Amino acid sequence: MFFEEIRTLAIACGLDDLGMTQPHFLQQDATYVDDWLAKGLHGALHYLEQNKEKRYDPSVLVPAGKTILVGVVKNTNIKGDYHRHIKSLLYGLGNELSQRIEGFKPIELQHIFCDSAPVLERRLAVEAGLGWIGKNRNFYHHSFGSLVHLGELMLDIVVPRKEPPETYASRCDSCEDCIKACPSGALGDEWNAQLCRAYHKEKCWICQTVCKYNAI
Ligand code: SF4
Ligand code: SF4
Repeated sequence: MFFEEIRTLAIACGLDDLGMTQPHFLQQDATYVDDWLAKGLHGALHYLEQNKEKRYDPSVLVPAGKTILVGVVKNTNIKGDYHRHIKSLLYGLGNELSQRIEGFKPIELQHIFCDSAPVLERRLAVEAGLGWIGKNRNFYHHSFGSLVHLGELMLDIVVPRKEPPETYASRCDSCEDCIKACPSGALGDEWNAQLCRAYHKEKCWICQTVCKYNAI
């Protein structure tokens, strides 16, 4: 089964989009995050200091993993808790795949993540050809903007594809609207978690609502 057919199936299962990449060491992110942590910009997000080997390399997290499917759901299509919603869609997709692909393990033995494991979801989504990362550090889907959630289904099979994934460079260019609009100065060359209101559990979407790529 080709990736393109799996993507069609994913959309029939309720996901808004699906990309695909392979697990490997994410050198660029490892360097960036190590430097960011060393500066203490993560504040009390101490969990980021742990499981770095797994976070920087999904093939360490799931040694048998050969393919990462990255699902996208628009916020407006999420009902209830987004973790549960996206995981249930990915389980649905996995079940469909297990009926179509010979040798595919039952879905219970596959790995599904949504903010639930040390996974650099935004980078995987970029590598899967779904979009780019904006200056507000959010993932931007090429058509839906940043008001989306991501989830991953890791498979222990190699999935062929008919076309290579798209590559999307950042479309921020010279714009700095989110940086200027942030009420606490948390954005700049780097995101300062200690200054970010969302980090302090406040509902703060300003850096996304001001963005021209979010039609809200
Ligand atoms: S507001 Fe401007 S700089 Fe910020 S993410 Fe959107 S396009 Fe990029
Ligand atoms: S969530 Fe709010 S405080 Fe945090 S970076 Fe965005 S605008 Fe700034």
